[in-house]
Amino acid sequence: MSDSALEGCETRTLEETLEHSIPLLRNAVERADAASSFWTQRFANQGIKSGDIRTLHDFQPLALLDKKDILDDQLALGPFGTLLAVPPDQLRRIHRTSGTTATPLLVLLTGNDLTSVVSVGSRAFRCSGVEAADIVVHCLNYCMWSGGVSDHESLEAAGATVIPFGVGNSHFLLETILQVRPSALSCTPSYLARLYQLLTDEFKLQPRDLRLRKAFCGGEPGLQDPDFRKSVEDIWGIRAVDANYGLADVLSIMASECDARDGLHFHAHDELLPELVDDAGRPVEISKGATGELVLSNLIRDAQPLFRYRTHDIIEIVDTARCACGRRGFRFRVVGRSDDVVVVKGINFFPAVLQGLIAGYSQLTGEYRVYASKPPNQDLRVEFEKVRGTVVDWTSVAEDIARRVLQQHSVKLRVSFCEYGAIPKSEHKTKRLIRD
Ligand SMILES: [Zn+2]
Repeated sequence: MSDSALEGCETRTLEETLEHSIPLLRNAVERADAASSFWTQRFANQGIKSGDIRTLHDFQPLALLDKKDILDDQLALGPFGTLLAVPPDQLRRIHRTSGTTATPLLVLLTGNDLTSVVSVGSRAFRCSGVEAADIVVHCLNYCMWSGGVSDHESLEAAGATVIPFGVGNSHFLLETILQVRPSALSCTPSYLARLYQLLTDEFKLQPRDLRLRKAFCGGEPGLQDPDFRKSVEDIWGIRAVDANYGLADVLSIMASECDARDGLHFHAHDELLPELVDDAGRPVEISKGATGELVLSNLIRDAQPLFRYRTHDIIEIVDTARCACGRRGFRFRVVGRSDDVVVVKGINFFPAVLQGLIAGYSQLTGEYRVYASKPPNQDLRVEFEKVRGTVVDWTSVAEDIARRVLQQHSVKLRVSFCEYGAIPKSEHKTKRLIRD
């Protein structure tokens, strides 16, 4: 892609973007201080004054904010809490976070907030190859979750024709695909496994019979594992793109990959200030190879401005140099969730890595659950689902998987198998880690 086809903010370097962000941040802090009693109190308690913010360093004494802080505010002083920075009649939409890791949070947006969500979302989808010629079946949850309606609007703004499908009704979805012949699916990676079962079991068709060309995936990790992506692309005959990284509480979509597939481009140049912190909460500079938890601050949020907000996503900076597609800024990959990590004898293990590791085993469906018990008698057990009717030497399959996990991740795993259908298939997000 030539630089002229990109928006101006996409061609700024990391340093230029940071320089551009500081005045926006100063204004955002000033507005929140004046309009939200939550922030007035927090800034006062921590000695943060908007006029003092000249560099990122001046802002970093502000304590990290967690979802629980906002949730407690909403529960105690609800429904919208004291963080709300606009009169309620200026709100235009209310979402809920998906609640995979905590009680759902209400996410409040004004008209301006919705505009910026779609502006960044459509930039991300264009980067991932969404074109005017695409007809996209959008299979994320519309039931209060931002991935449904917000991402739908972002797909439309990127030029695509969108079929608003949502989750569930998978049988009707396949009938619709066979009738309309769309070019693309927008879904979670694990949903493809569910569709595969239904398609082969009940329709007696193979995925390639649907003649889909693209899958815009998001909402879960998976595609960043090359083996998993290759198996999806081989089975479906599609190009599977990691097109949709975001957090409902901050910005529904803020990153996606381009054709070069060299990490996720961060697209919210004018909307968010990204930071990295280590596991003690200390700032880590965004530079090639750096790893840390992604922490975000809204630069232009009216209703619910968040500052130094913990995403709990551990990311690694893939590069900060100009990408082959012409975009500058930084690219990253998600390593895991800080709250999904299992620490086994001092080693951090992210269960999501298993998705890619087992992608090549045709005798497994790809569904699994990890059971982690607490120290001192810490035990990590994984149950993988068998493909229906498969007869193989399961002991040697178990030994093979355990050996690969030990080699690649230095963690001992007890491997077992369950019959096909024993793990409920996800219509939304799959909970894979169960702590005893
Ligand atoms: Zn690129």
